[in-house]
Amino acid sequence: MHKNSTNILNYIKENGPLSCADFMQLCLYHPEFGYYTTTNLLGEQGDFITAPELTPVFGELICLWVVNTWEQLGCPAEWTLAELGPGHGTLMSDVLRVCRKVAPSSMSCCSVALVETSPSLTKIQQQTLAEENIEWVTDINQVDNTWPTIVIGNEFLDAFPVQQWHHQGGGQYVERGVMADGNELHFTLLKESTATFESEAEIVETSTTADWLAQFKAHFADTPLASLFIDYGAAPKTPFTEKDTLQAIHQHQKVDALAHPGAADLTTQVNFTAVKEALGDTCYGPMAQAVFLTNLGLPIRAAQIHAKLDDAGRQDLEQRLHRLMALDEMGELFKAFCYVQNCDVEPAGFGG
Ligand code: SAH
Repeated sequence: MHKNSTNILNYIKENGPLSCADFMQLCLYHPEFGYYTTTNLLGEQGDFITAPELTPVFGELICLWVVNTWEQLGCPAEWTLAELGPGHGTLMSDVLRVCRKVAPSSMSCCSVALVETSPSLTKIQQQTLAEENIEWVTDINQVDNTWPTIVIGNEFLDAFPVQQWHHQGGGQYVERGVMADGNELHFTLLKESTATFESEAEIVETSTTADWLAQFKAHFADTPLASLFIDYGAAPKTPFTEKDTLQAIHQHQKVDALAHPGAADLTTQVNFTAVKEALGDTCYGPMAQAVFLTNLGLPIRAAQIHAKLDDAGRQDLEQRLHRLMALDEMGELFKAFCYVQNCDVEPAGFGG
């Protein structure tokens, strides 16, 4: 058993049962045995591959979105570009490289901030971005809110812990938790924690994302802000999700959510209805990643690169773009979502 899993099992034996949200928080973010804090998780060697790790085309297109947004903000000399949960720093590296090329004037007084809670990922980001002048912070509240700000985040909202609720009949729900039984973890019910939902679904899921979004919105209350989130999820009819979306990925395979605590990635599908409710009116999307990236010009960029490659390179590019765009891969389930405040930005790619 992975040493993180042993530690988590022992922790739950001593302190459990834990709510589903506390279990996710522990498995992902515990300073000594959390998955994001201790393991090398992203990319082809790790447990899962994200869009920026798959191909630089993703970051190039996100850069065009950033530059277009910056222009719509009136080309401010001083502005902040922040990324949430930057992983290996690949997206920001691609964005800065392309910004310098296509809009060098945007870069002269731009402050770049990376918001990251994981010390091990921060180290990797510092290596990837060693040549850049960047500020690292652990909390969105530490990002300077003096200047117009553009925020990007890929697979950031889907890493937030969720609460799960189990139907007892008549819309009455009891919170679902995780307990240790010998050397195994099982789901259990936390009888003392109850809620009511207008639903008959067996499991209802609510997310802690809304609390984070409220803080985010408040921190930039007086700042022209445009933010782009790309996460996997849907926009159901209700701000709660009527199913269990908790998913564990270990060595590129879906595994039981409780089987490799601290050694597997745990994610949930973002409920964009709840996200919109937390943020208010000026939201765009969610829009399927494939449509969004096509709107930003992916086919044109792909054709440019294609022309310069040999056969093997073309095949590799095609495979990567297929994963990014195909409706049964990342193209449909992943969604682009934008929120703006205190400005008139009509974000590119959302078809408005
Ligand atoms: N954006 C990267 C990585 C996605 S994984 C990519 O696309 O490759 C999720 C990232 O969010 C990790 O870097 C994780 O450490 C970070 N993270 C999760 N919750 C966070 C929080 N509350 N504040 C800052 N970073 C967070």
